[in-house]
Amino acid sequence: MREFSEKINLRRGFLSISKVKSIDNFFFGEGSFSQIEKIIQERQEIHVKGGLTSKFVFYFDDFFGHDNEIVKKCSCIENVDIKFIDTRDEPSTEQINKLRDDLIEEGLPSGLVAIGGGITLDTVKALSNLLGNDGNAEDYQGWDLLKRKGVYKIGIPTVSGTGAESSRTCVLINQKNGLKLGMNSDFTLFDMLILDPDLSKTVPKNIFFYTLTDAFFHSMEPLSGSLRNPIADSYALMAKNLCEEVFALDEIKSNVGRSKAMLASFFGGIAIANSMTALVHPFSAGLSVVLKVPHTLANCLVLLAMEEFYPEERATIIQAIQKHNIEVPRDICSKLSDKQFDDLYASTIVHEKPLSNGLGENFKDILTKNKVQEIFERI
Ligand code: NAD
Ligand code: ZN
Repeated sequence: MREFSEKINLRRGFLSISKVKSIDNFFFGEGSFSQIEKIIQERQEIHVKGGLTSKFVFYFDDFFGHDNEIVKKCSCIENVDIKFIDTRDEPSTEQINKLRDDLIEEGLPSGLVAIGGGITLDTVKALSNLLGNDGNAEDYQGWDLLKRKGVYKIGIPTVSGTGAESSRTCVLINQKNGLKLGMNSDFTLFDMLILDPDLSKTVPKNIFFYTLTDAFFHSMEPLSGSLRNPIADSYALMAKNLCEEVFALDEIKSNVGRSKAMLASFFGGIAIANSMTALVHPFSAGLSVVLKVPHTLANCLVLLAMEEFYPEERATIIQAIQKHNIEVPRDICSKLSDKQFDDLYASTIVHEKPLSNGLGENFKDILTKNKVQEIFERI
């Protein structure tokens, strides 16, 4: 306990938070997905009494096909439509506008359910927001721009780490202006979550590992920064400890590993919603925007190249990679053109707030163009 209090002391700064809004209702535990029919039927009754339709639309990650047992179970629930989300690309504003138009044409639902990873969860959060607000998805990329709550939404993560289930944002790419930004709003929070570790049994080990490390970064980056607050610190410490407990297991995907990973993701999402990342996420965003490296893999590759900033955390990740035989792609930045390095620099250095959190207001004195390129060259 003493160690815990020492870790959350506010040594260097204070990031004020005026209000904390978090998930109202969630189920947690192996087998909790079995409650789905009852949960939907209860909501349908409430919606019909309130003068709404009873129609729910379920969006599944397309890893789950029509023949999957849980898809079949959900399609038996009365007045439920089943749809699938292609997860090859991260969600775009254009795609969300199109999905909204499709729903309006087919008849508006009173509830949406997301079953999948960060892409599926964010898609449904954005779609719900748009059904409750005029205009298009790009109008709401930013902070607190939504005027009203959207339709009721349930999040059911099937891979753990991004914290998309508990955060107040849904990250979208606007292909017209190249902006990758979320709809940050209390309205974006899910109304209910079902956190069932059984659902992540089928995730391939490498994807499971890299996704889990996102929760590690959502905790270690705020904890290493200068802008701290005791609420985010407390959630971050819980998430970081849980990640380290999973790394220490012989089998990260054991029952215990999947349960702890699901909790780490949930707590990491709350930590990041009330604080800020530091050095890893800005560099990772650069890799994702310029070279299309997936978010969770990009974070790890960046950390491996940041020995001078995060020696302890880097050692933790290297040890976990070795222990669990995780494949690490190499030489991603070894043959890039000057233009690509320029683009990587620009798309990293633009993230001023987290970089200041990591290195102070004068971060550009340390992260010179040469230094940024040197870090990318190690990847
Ligand atoms: P993802 O949704 O693509 O899922 C990762 C992979 O795992 C996919 O190939 C998917 O098909 C597969 N998968 C998921 N569940 C599975 C299962 N049970 N069995 C087998 N395979 C399964 O990626 P992700 O890493 O979960 O999410 C990335 C997205 O999340 C990005 O768009 C990123 O911007 C966003 N994100 C959002 C937040 C937020 O707070 N909203 C935070 C971080 C990242
Ligand atoms: Zn992240």
